[in-house]
Amino acid sequence: MIGKLFIIGLGPGDAAMLTPQAAVALALASDLVGYGPYVDRAPQKPGQIRHVSDNREELDRARHALEMAAAGRVVAVLSAGDAGVFGMASAVFEAIDKGEPAWRELEVEVVAGVSAMFAAAAQVGAFLGHDFCAISLSDNLKPWALVLRRLRAAAEAGFAMALYNPHSRARPWQLNAAFELLREVLPPETPVVFATAVSRVDEQIEIVTLAAADSLRADMRTLVMIGTAATRRIERPGRSPWVYTPRFAGDAA
Ligand code: SAH
Repeated sequence: MIGKLFIIGLGPGDAAMLTPQAAVALALASDLVGYGPYVDRAPQKPGQIRHVSDNREELDRARHALEMAAAGRVVAVLSAGDAGVFGMASAVFEAIDKGEPAWRELEVEVVAGVSAMFAAAAQVGAFLGHDFCAISLSDNLKPWALVLRRLRAAAEAGFAMALYNPHSRARPWQLNAAFELLREVLPPETPVVFATAVSRVDEQIEIVTLAAADSLRADMRTLVMIGTAATRRIERPGRSPWVYTPRFAGDAA
């Protein structure tokens, strides 16, 4: 019996940002697999089995999902945002790459989602409006020295940046170290956005300068965006500014 594996991006939180394609895949699944808070976002469906695990057990979770699909179940592996952006999609393909030959016969469908960076950039205007990159500040899977090297290279090359996983209790100092490094390369007035719990009821968006950026504004649910020398604020009386990176940012670095 051959089942099916969906890998689904749920979007940043608001149900309106779950794509119709993701909703169909969730409804088809016999089994949901994922970190508890993500599985909680799926609408209840009678008979559907929920397999909840800790956020750090990604490879084990991927293997468990593949085993169930190989046994004929219709399994949905869930990620926040887009599953391919620091989410479960790579973990599943790593497991297939190193795992049972039979797993290559499975039907696997990756369902794209709205990543936090797109929801956050849209809330302030067009922050990522020209060339940009996404960097995870987590050093669980790569050395911190490599994170710093990539940050410097991206700033020197004039990329706007979306920084995922900027803060956790186990990593309280990394974000301020990142700001220190970026202040060596970028002008002090470069716009920085702290976008927390975007699209959720407790959403909080703060726009500051690189000179004033402080990691105290960030927690695990924050996406931090760093502008380029060309990123601009449009001030509005009594309202928060729009921030955008113009399309002609090519010579800004
Ligand atoms: N696959 C997800 C990212 C998972 S990594 C995506 O595409 O969005 C987890 C990190 O994503 C968090 O530490 C935070 O930096 C970011 N994130 C996820 N949801 C968010 C939200 N609603 N608002 C702000 N940041 C969010």
